[in-house]
Amino acid sequence: MESLNRIKNVILVLSGKGGVGKSTLSTQLALGLAAENHKVGLLDVDLCGPSIPRMLNLEQCNIHQCDDGWLPVYSNSHRNLSVMSIGFLLDNKNDPVIWRGPKKNAMIKQFLSDVVWGELDFLIIDTPPGTSDEHLAVVTTLKGMVTGAVLVTTPQAVAVADVQRELTFCRKTGIPVLGIVENMSGYVCPHCSECLLLFSQGGGEDLAKQENISFLGNVPIDPNLAECCDGGKNFLQIFANSQAYDSIKNIISKI
Ligand code: ADP
Repeated sequence: MESLNRIKNVILVLSGKGGVGKSTLSTQLALGLAAENHKVGLLDVDLCGPSIPRMLNLEQCNIHQCDDGWLPVYSNSHRNLSVMSIGFLLDNKNDPVIWRGPKKNAMIKQFLSDVVWGELDFLIIDTPPGTSDEHLAVVTTLKGMVTGAVLVTTPQAVAVADVQRELTFCRKTGIPVLGIVENMSGYVCPHCSECLLLFSQGGGEDLAKQENISFLGNVPIDPNLAECCDGGKNFLQIFANSQAYDSIKNIISKI
């Protein structure tokens, strides 16, 4: 696994459920770390629902091959952020990927061994929800090379219960847990700046305390963040005066 020897930190972003903001957080972590001049790779192993190309406005990009393997795609806002996703390999970007485990396994192995990542300070891996073929492929291919996992949840009790399963997965597979992020934690009213608690709050923090792991922070619902992700814009560059910006920067400082 020579291509991985030059990567200092490998970080998995996990969640028990879909739609809790795992790809959003992966993207913001990658952009934030790149803005701090780190060399960052972002690998999207959500083979059935790749959203990273869109979030980074790279949807029209394709992968090129060189003698050493596949060249990743570089972000428009930061040349020190390289990206790989199944989305770059599909002829039609709307085609579904309908693969069984062994094929997914082979694709992920290829992403990890055949991509010319070069020297990286961080490789952020955005995974699909749950603990399935993709996760096992990453864990078995990387054997002991994962620095740690960031577990993403929303404040509701059901989402928190799902994150507990991710925690068990990490423990069983020997992946260190960097901590929990509670996303969509309240809504900051754009008129009065008061934070409204749409769901309950503090579930992620309570779980972190209960399990004796770090709580990395909470990110409020911010319509600008959703809009930037949908439109492939760099939220951290455009909305630096927001509570969500502060929250994301605070999480990055703990990684
Ligand atoms: P997942 O990867 O867990 O399936 P996504 O990152 O794709 O979830 O997020 C689902 C949707 O929620 C996206 O449209 C995203 O823009 C939006 N979203 C995620 N986090 C926030 C947030 N803190 N504020 C506003 N919208 C968010």
